[in-house]
Amino acid sequence: MRFDLAEQYQPLREMLRVLVEKEIAPYAEHVDRTGEYPRNQLEEMKKLKLTGYSIPKKYGGEEKSVTEQSIVIEEIARGCSSTAAVLSIYYLGSSPLTIAGTEEQKQKYLPALAAGNRAASFGLTEPGAGSDAASIKTSAYLDNDEYVLNGHKCFIGNCGESDIYFVFAKTDGNAGAKGISCFLVEKGTPGFRIGEIAEKMGLNGQRTGEFFLEDCRVPKENLIGELNKGFRIAMETLDNARIIVAASALGIAQSAYEEAMEFANNRIQFGQAIGNFQGILYKIADMATELQVAKLATYRASELADHKEAVSRHQFSSECAIAKYYATEVANKVVNESLQVLGGRGFIKGSKVERLYRDARVLKIYEGTSEIQKIVIGKSALSGKFVTEI
Ligand SMILES: Cc1cc2nc3c(=O)[nH]c(=O)nc-3n(C[C@H](O)[C@H](O)[C@H](O)COP(=O)(O)OP(=O)(O)OC[C@H]3O[C@@H](n4cnc5c(N)ncnc54)[C@H](O)[C@@H]3O)c2cc1C
Repeated sequence: MRFDLAEQYQPLREMLRVLVEKEIAPYAEHVDRTGEYPRNQLEEMKKLKLTGYSIPKKYGGEEKSVTEQSIVIEEIARGCSSTAAVLSIYYLGSSPLTIAGTEEQKQKYLPALAAGNRAASFGLTEPGAGSDAASIKTSAYLDNDEYVLNGHKCFIGNCGESDIYFVFAKTDGNAGAKGISCFLVEKGTPGFRIGEIAEKMGLNGQRTGEFFLEDCRVPKENLIGELNKGFRIAMETLDNARIIVAASALGIAQSAYEEAMEFANNRIQFGQAIGNFQGILYKIADMATELQVAKLATYRASELADHKEAVSRHQFSSECAIAKYYATEVANKVVNESLQVLGGRGFIKGSKVERLYRDARVLKIYEGTSEIQKIVIGKSALSGKFVTEI
């Protein structure tokens, strides 16, 4: 593992900090309060080609490393969690195509995704299948030259805003995870219908909703990867997505931590700054320590993603799960402790930490809950397939 990366990525961080300070952070409170989609912020990110970071140059993207994608998401999340979640969709949504798309599919869809002119959503979760994703009921069958899809997907990020939906469906109802295939469905296809967009406790600028497939017909060319091999595409997509969620957790935690530090240094009670009291000092110390370790875990997983050849698939999945589990738990702890440091001010609407407290909560749930991450890590460790060497 390399510890000399910070300097190499400094120019990227500096570019992002200018963007965040001018175009992202000033609107975070408005996005949260109104639930407005951060469209202008997206335009600014498109100008810097951030939407194309996960896509190869050959298809109009920037072909940046996962480490660079993580830095982008961390810095944007530091300014606005909703905007970071919207950008994350570009990295998550293009993944099934970059992993398993044919040359023709990549050429057809990736350039518009890279430019940010179109967006893609990842449709795995259903009302009856969340953590147990292999139990999905959405089905697809081949009828001449078309697949016919039926089902109901829920909690889908960027729902309604996206133009393309990667839909995971059963093509062999008796084969469990080995009977799932991945399909590309374009918005506007007859039989594809957007349902309700959910109201959430946080991350208000990111759309999360449901869609229905009712005898929805797509050309057989819209099958992504091989028939019945879709579950693998979903799991590979989620490995990378977990690193990106960990990175957004770092940004949210960092932002809350900075608020707590500022307050601890300036708030006078009993004739002195509250940071002088050991009770507060210990909180700051715990936050600093855990945030540091979360950064190491996240950037270790990012670096492994950039050198996948160096590790087994089990090892990689475990490292992604560790980064996601630890960083999102730390983010939740840091926002909670920061709110405590701010006292009553932290609880009042309009306080940054109050918003971060709500935004951080979902990080322990989506892209696999903390409990599921522990199952991935624990099973891999017990089977001897996960090695903790540095
Ligand atoms: C804002 C938001 C955005 C989302 N975006 C997307 C998206 O873009 N695409 C998509 O496909 N999905 C998306 N999801 C869905 C998300 O991935 C699921 O909510 C998540 O995987 C958990 O599934 P569930 O909500 O059905 O909970 P359940 O699976 O019903 O779990 C309920 C509880 O039981 C626990 N549990 C379940 N099984 C076990 C077990 N074996 N051992 C121990 N505990 C267990 C869970 O950890 C959890 O605490 C999103 C969700 C949200 C809230």
